[in-house]
Amino acid sequence: MEKKYQRIEKEDSAVYEALIGEEQREADGLELIPSENYVSQAVREALGSVLTNKYSEGYPGARYYGGQEFTDAVERLAIERACALFGAKFANVQPLSGAPANLAMYFGLLTPGDTVLGMDLSHGGHLTHGHPVTEITKVFKFIRYKMKNVETGEIDYDELRETALREKPKIILAGFSAYSRELAYEKFVEIAREVGAITVADMAHIAGLIAGKAVRNPFDAGFDVITTTTHKTLRGPRGGMILVRENEAFIKKINKAVFPGLQGGPHMNNIAAKAVCFHEAQEPSFAQYTQQILKNAKAMETVFREKNVRMIGGGTSNHLILADVFGSLGVSGKEAQTVLDEVGITVNMNAIADDVRKPLDPSGIRFGTPAMTTRGFKEEASKKVAEIMLDTLKHRHNENRKKELRKEVQDLCRSHPVPDSFV
Ligand SMILES: *Cc1c(COP(=O)(O)O)cnc(C)c1O
Repeated sequence: MEKKYQRIEKEDSAVYEALIGEEQREADGLELIPSENYVSQAVREALGSVLTNKYSEGYPGARYYGGQEFTDAVERLAIERACALFGAKFANVQPLSGAPANLAMYFGLLTPGDTVLGMDLSHGGHLTHGHPVTEITKVFKFIRYKMKNVETGEIDYDELRETALREKPKIILAGFSAYSRELAYEKFVEIAREVGAITVADMAHIAGLIAGKAVRNPFDAGFDVITTTTHKTLRGPRGGMILVRENEAFIKKINKAVFPGLQGGPHMNNIAAKAVCFHEAQEPSFAQYTQQILKNAKAMETVFREKNVRMIGGGTSNHLILADVFGSLGVSGKEAQTVLDEVGITVNMNAIADDVRKPLDPSGIRFGTPAMTTRGFKEEASKKVAEIMLDTLKHRHNENRKKELRKEVQDLCRSHPVPDSFV
């Protein structure tokens, strides 16, 4: 490994050790958590730049502090590139992460007491879509739609429409963190127009796939607003973003909600890293990367199907698979997560739709291909990983077999090192 973090090593050995430990962990283990990825050296340089020194409250051309020549340039670049990448007229690149982006979207577009119709959380929706443990549920009312058929992943659009007609939501929210199929965006738009709701897509998980045109862009179907993270399939720094297709009144309200409504000074080093990431995502190589993410997920799906493991939604049309390991193999999600960890494969346990088990030890595991595809995995190697996963679950009580499997994972990791640059 090249010599990194030399200054930290000299000045702060405790932090240095943690950084080196994480470098090693990321190099030696196979990361299958579908929300994770490896960023380029260029993105990390921007994150580590002098822009972290600067206060820039406000927006380009209208700041509350002086000395904004370069911060303005960087934020304008990030906005222009984001708009070009996703076909939006307006963008706010200041949200600190996905959850704060959603908060700003809600507060910008709603008044307290308004209703949001979103994906049921046990059917793949996200915590920030109104989970009872979140504070936002004290301010707005959240109601749900679900899948009609868990085996195909099809949403119940009739129920969605009936609920919308009855409850008159102000926002209809599409988007998910544990759903493996594409949505019929046109149907959301049609229903929303019927009831006068704003359509918002939370594309946090699939932003990269949309940028690379590997899956459909909700804006093409007429969605009004998109919220997202920048650090999942989009392969940028940890952060959030809000895009508005064309309605200027929406972006004005959202901008006010981000600052001064919810945040103070923007993290300009992070915004520079977002700009770098958007630049990388405009390269043809990024589109190829996103195509490969899908091919690799399909390759893993094939193995799971051959071995008769039930997948929620019947398989995958994106980067992730939610497998019912308890129903199919008699291994709980938690146990599966633990034994896979033992062989160096990181996945997360996840509740499945209508789960018979508890959230802290659910029936499913969720895994995906964005990070391993960044490491250069192709279909054959992805199949191998799926086979190792199922072998591990089958031989979970056999220590010798697990040692062999651990070795196979290490070999795959060594032959697919994490690259520094993607352009
Ligand atoms: C990850 C995710 C978020 C939250 O993003 P954070 O950066 O973790 O705050 C919001 N919505 C969806 C759909 C997500 O997948």
